[in-house]
Amino acid sequence: MGHKIAVISGDGIGPEIVAEAKKVLDTAGKKYGFELDYTEVLMGGASIDVHGVPLTEEAIETAKSSEAVLMGSIGGDAKTSPWYQLPAKLRPEAGLLKIRKALNLFANLRPAYLYEELRAACPLKEEISAAGFDMLIMRELTGGLYFGARSTTEKDGVRTAVDTLSYNENEIRRIAIKGFDIARKRRRKVCSVDKANVLDSSRLWRSVVEEVAKDYPDVTLEHMLVDNCAMQLVRDPAQFDVILTENMFGDILSDEASMVTGSIGMLSSASLNETKFGLYEPSHGSAPDIAGQNIANPIATILSAAMMLRYSLDLDEAADAIEGAVKQVLADNYRTGDIWSEGCTKTGTREMGDLIAQRV
Ligand code: NAD
Repeated sequence: MGHKIAVISGDGIGPEIVAEAKKVLDTAGKKYGFELDYTEVLMGGASIDVHGVPLTEEAIETAKSSEAVLMGSIGGDAKTSPWYQLPAKLRPEAGLLKIRKALNLFANLRPAYLYEELRAACPLKEEISAAGFDMLIMRELTGGLYFGARSTTEKDGVRTAVDTLSYNENEIRRIAIKGFDIARKRRRKVCSVDKANVLDSSRLWRSVVEEVAKDYPDVTLEHMLVDNCAMQLVRDPAQFDVILTENMFGDILSDEASMVTGSIGMLSSASLNETKFGLYEPSHGSAPDIAGQNIANPIATILSAAMMLRYSLDLDEAADAIEGAVKQVLADNYRTGDIWSEGCTKTGTREMGDLIAQRV
């Protein structure tokens, strides 16, 4: 019996990049002795076309009864696609919000890793990029400012808007535990980011993170204010291993961290709940502008699949092998168009999948 994996190929380049991730996973399975049983689930535009809604209850049930979800990307061109003539709650992206909520995916992980071979794409000064970096941003995804009560009122002709930033200690504790657990699979360093010099929610965050840290004496904890962290990410990104932070700070910092890697087609991500279950997807969108042309970079999805092996299935060795194969393919100078530079061999989506599978 294989591990049950729900697969959302999605829209645009989604089916192309997911096919390559499955190819690489199956190769790793043969080598490392595991099997994956895939069940295809419709979401986004693909589900609208068949069911009239971006995500059905049956699709959610299939995802829930699986060990993990592997996803491509959903959505189309907002200007031309008929999906965007529908009311907001029936559009492709509504499926994504619905599945995150239904599966209680409160922890978002985004690694930012600078490949030596892609250093030229890094917008930082050479003396900084030369040190390389390998960090993971762990962002709380279901609480804080984006989910608090909000209102806009008007009194005596003056408009006032209010957003509420609230966290309870249980929400903080569960994400901190995830952060420390994942640090144990990496270099055992957690940098917790807050604004404890100003915000009560941050002071509670800091004290709960310190309580959790007591159970992880082998992991080093430091605290950093968010404004300082934003600077350090461009000044000395090599110092970070796991950055643990709340929803809005994580939203901003994870985009900053991915920008400094310089290549959108390389960025994986995972969203986890309290169990080992997770949803794994590239950080980029469905790139409708290049869909169906065999030119999309499948590496972000392949690296997301490696994260799935590591975090949901505890197949660390196979995950290492896939990540190693990606490094090797870059070292062998193969590139899809988005990361191509002079002197490298340009490959298509399928060829890149083959080349990585051969190196697993
Ligand atoms: P996008 O990430 O799809 O594309 C931005 C640019 O990057 C495009 O030029 C695209 O061609 C390029 N690109 C992206 N991924 C690439 C890859 N793997 N290889 C090569 N080039 C790549 O962002 P967008 O154009 O703003 O959004 C397109 C659609 O994707 C929208 O419908 C949006 O809502 C959706 N979207 C979905 C998700 C998700 O499913 N989680 C996330 C972001 C955007």
